[in-house]
Amino acid sequence: MSLVIVGTFNLDTIETPQERRERIVGGSGTYCCLAASFFTAPGIVGVVGEDFPKDTLELFKAKGIDTEGLLVKPGKTFFWEGRYEDDPNKRTTIATEVNVLKSFRPQLPDHYRGADILFLANIDPELQEDILAQVNNPRLVAMDTMNYWIQTRAASLLNVLNKVDVFFANDEEVRMLTDELNLITAGKRLLEKGPSLVVIKKGEHGALLLSKDFVFVAPAYPSETVLDPTGAGDSFGGGFLGYLDNVDSYAEGDIRKAAVYGSVLASFTIEKFGIDRLESLSSDEIENRFAEFQKLVSF
Ligand code: AMP
Repeated sequence: MSLVIVGTFNLDTIETPQERRERIVGGSGTYCCLAASFFTAPGIVGVVGEDFPKDTLELFKAKGIDTEGLLVKPGKTFFWEGRYEDDPNKRTTIATEVNVLKSFRPQLPDHYRGADILFLANIDPELQEDILAQVNNPRLVAMDTMNYWIQTRAASLLNVLNKVDVFFANDEEVRMLTDELNLITAGKRLLEKGPSLVVIKKGEHGALLLSKDFVFVAPAYPSETVLDPTGAGDSFGGGFLGYLDNVDSYAEGDIRKAAVYGSVLASFTIEKFGIDRLESLSSDEIENRFAEFQKLVSF
């Protein structure tokens, strides 16, 4: 097992100016593991209730995802409801019901403990810390988060941040965490808090990578079809780390390519609601879009 992903496996109700979908499959872990599965065979850690669709569990297995660390517990799956404004970068959380996640105390299956890469995707930072302590000697630890945890668990979040190599956050979260408007200055502040690489996701404006040694900008795909922006950030993270796991190198050139693969996966996710597009996606489509990205920035 070389990539382990800890995250949420949820049911989401999503409203965009065009459409409303109720209780569709979502969650940070879901988007991440599906995106990563195009490059590697990740193991997942999380919990769902009895109402989580069996078809999705089967889909995970069909994509080569190891589901041994995903528990099915009596009760209801974590539920999230969000609404998008006309500007797809603006999202309001309408409801969050933690449900089975409330009493979740993960125990990693033995064969997950030797993971090379650990991705603490967006979930309660106390659970992130708990899992981190159970992995023996990971070569790369990455984390993601969300405004909800910055508002409710800031101290725990900073604790985890201090122990990771890569921090993924969107522009709003970075500003919330640092009280700094300028993203370069904010990113530098975050580099002082532990990670050696900060990846700032800026929605339709792409991603900004900052380390002590380099700055890289990965564009977003200039897409006309944005049906549902949910999961773009998680798909970015899954594509990024899945690619690094596949090439088994964390050299600067590979990190740059990983960021473009992250953008490629995110660009597909938003073309349809929920996980629909990731479900039908092929490796050829990924490679073709990667080539389009290369053309896009060549001058
Ligand atoms: P993204 O659009 O990449 O930020 O991720 C959206 C996903 O995050 C949705 O599918 C939600 O189910 C999930 N989500 C919402 N709230 C939380 C939370 N507090 N912790 C973890 N995941 C969440």
